[in-house]
Amino acid sequence: MQYESTLEFARAQDEADPLKSYRERFCFPSLGTPELVYFTGHSLGLQPKTVRAAVELELDEWAKYGVEGHFHSTNPWYSYHELLTPPMAGIVGAKESEVVCMNSLTTNLHLMFVSFYRPTKTRYKIISEAKMFPSDRYLLETQARFHGFDPDDAIIEVAPRDGESLIREEDVLEAIDANAGELALVFFGGVNYFTGQLFNMPRLTEAAHAAGAIAGFDLAHAAGNVPLALHDWGVDFAAWCSYKYLNSSPGNVGGIFVHENHGRNFELPRFGGWWGHDKVTRFQMKSGFQPMEGAEGWQLSNVPILGMSAMKASLDIFAEASMPALRKKSEKLTGYLEYTVDLLAAAFPDADISVITPREPGQRGCQISMDVAGRERKLFDDMIAAGVIADFREPCIIRMAPVPFYNSFEDVFTFGKVMRNLLAQGSGK
Ligand SMILES: *Cc1c(COP(=O)(O)O)cnc(C)c1O
Repeated sequence: MQYESTLEFARAQDEADPLKSYRERFCFPSLGTPELVYFTGHSLGLQPKTVRAAVELELDEWAKYGVEGHFHSTNPWYSYHELLTPPMAGIVGAKESEVVCMNSLTTNLHLMFVSFYRPTKTRYKIISEAKMFPSDRYLLETQARFHGFDPDDAIIEVAPRDGESLIREEDVLEAIDANAGELALVFFGGVNYFTGQLFNMPRLTEAAHAAGAIAGFDLAHAAGNVPLALHDWGVDFAAWCSYKYLNSSPGNVGGIFVHENHGRNFELPRFGGWWGHDKVTRFQMKSGFQPMEGAEGWQLSNVPILGMSAMKASLDIFAEASMPALRKKSEKLTGYLEYTVDLLAAAFPDADISVITPREPGQRGCQISMDVAGRERKLFDDMIAAGVIADFREPCIIRMAPVPFYNSFEDVFTFGKVMRNLLAQGSGK
């Protein structure tokens, strides 16, 4: 696509955008800054305007029915989580029986590890990416220790080569191959939170299986961002949060995927709770845990209705807009941001600007991580003060997510204009 760095071009793109009306359906924060460009959907998605009424409905039902709301409210609480399953299964490319919304991400990963990280004396190694999100590193470290292994021995991190910022797929495949005899698990993020690199999940899954290992993914930055086909790819398990690209509200409930190959395997060790117990006999309150079939058999507790009502409102919009349409816009919009950063890099060579996110659209979602090695953090602070909201990671990486639901081409143009001014003024020098 041929991009141009003019307001006219950006506005014409927005005018022609089939998803343009969705922007009106989100609440934009007002931070008292001159421009407001929200590029932090990678950390907390914006609030859909339908969320308030959805939460208020449940507050009203609670006021009206008390405990009877479990069975008599408009959307009975007893089975409320089932309403989230169809749209969520659509987002991650799964059968409905393979998905359930519950708990939060790190908790869910530990529960998945109970079932899918079953190390033996000889087969106990985990291959993952270097510089994973800290919670995932703590997960791996404490899981290895829990099973009596030294994390330094059990965890193999595949890192970018010297002088590079992305992980090469061939290096991951080679590590899997080289450790095949000792490998228990390949565990990767679908999209790396720092660089925005999208990993080839079907290829990694295939390689893990060929080595006799399990393949699991943390989809925090992938769910609602990139196309996923977890079932067809044969992924064993996955977990994700819903407050980033899924716009479900801060800290809200996450989701899990368990492939149907495992969903009926009642021999797998797992931790049990009454909500994962066979629905038919749940209220007989007897001992003897009998898990439900499918992902629901990993549930522990009855569900937080207020949070889930916000999530339902958000997922309904996803179902309406559809992932393929969102992805189509996402590729164009992210390409426009990449182009804009490249122009800045060319205009201000002293700022040493580079894009560390993959250049190939098939290897990224809606994220551009921009390295501004020649300037200090002050540049980022000035950018925030000017109303472009992004986030900052050491040493000088600015992470931006142009989210197809609510960001526009004009947002990207505004970012370029703000940065040109700041760089010209010598901000962060
Ligand atoms: C955001 C994120 C988390 C956060 O975990 P919570 O348990 O929801 O707090 C974990 N891992 C990754 C990769 C993330 O991006």
